[in-house]
Amino acid sequence: VSLTNSQGFQAASPATQQELLNAIGARARDAVFSYGLQNLASNPAFANLTQAQQSDAIQTFGRVANGAAYRAVSDAGRQQILSNLTSIVTSSRYQTAFPVARRAIADALDVTGVGTIPIVPQYAPEQIDLRALQRDFKTLWDNSFPGGRSREQGGTLVSNNVGNVSMIHPGGGKRDSFHADVRTDPDQKLLGVFHTHPYDSTEGGYTGVSMTGADAASLINNHAWNVIIAQSGDEQFMYLRTGVTPLYVDGNAVKNARDQRVRQLIQQGQSVSKASKDAARETAQAYGLAYYEGIEGVFKRVYP
Ligand SMILES: [Zn+2]
Repeated sequence: VSLTNSQGFQAASPATQQELLNAIGARARDAVFSYGLQNLASNPAFANLTQAQQSDAIQTFGRVANGAAYRAVSDAGRQQILSNLTSIVTSSRYQTAFPVARRAIADALDVTGVGTIPIVPQYAPEQIDLRALQRDFKTLWDNSFPGGRSREQGGTLVSNNVGNVSMIHPGGGKRDSFHADVRTDPDQKLLGVFHTHPYDSTEGGYTGVSMTGADAASLINNHAWNVIIAQSGDEQFMYLRTGVTPLYVDGNAVKNARDQRVRQLIQQGQSVSKASKDAARETAQAYGLAYYEGIEGVFKRVYP
């Protein structure tokens, strides 16, 4: 009712009015979203947009509200996202930007949950669905023992301009390292890197070995991407950067602290896999990262 009474709504074309009503109807249980759209329609700048621009603005609201990060935050957080979004989508800079740039702006505000970072680990999505990449993950793991010896494999995660996630530049590295090629096309958004943790029979044949200190430091110090994923056997692990992750860490210090902690946990009787998971979780806590464990491409938040 307050929407249909608003000046912006009454000034809008019948097509835009219908689009606003449909958008609210599609998310009827999200009071914050309805309120956010009312604010958009009441914004004086909205009335000055063409019908196509208004339609673009409404659709961008819908895309952001369908994203995992939007759904994962509190009412106050969602209100803040939509308030920021109103300022953005009604600005002339946004409206005169190329579609690819507008897409990137919406991506920066949400979409897959790995395209942007949560303010704090507590706001990280509880689950991140990367089943679309499971086939790539499995192939790279299966390729990790050429001639029976360990050789890390990996690739680079990107999303395209309609939000689909894919892996590019798959390939092999060394026995215990992989260097990702993170070059992307203009219409691709760089999300993160993937690699395997193989241990051949001469190295103990371990599986389920989680994130290392080097993995954490690599993510923290490389600001161009926000997630690092590893696979060891059937098990998958992920760190997600957050707003409280430091900008820089001493890689050797993080690596040595994690390795020492793993040795200590193994001495106390834990398996290599369990020790690596506990240490990975503690590293996440120390550096403001969200930590996930996954299977078949579905990652569940373990810390916090
Ligand atoms: Zn690793």
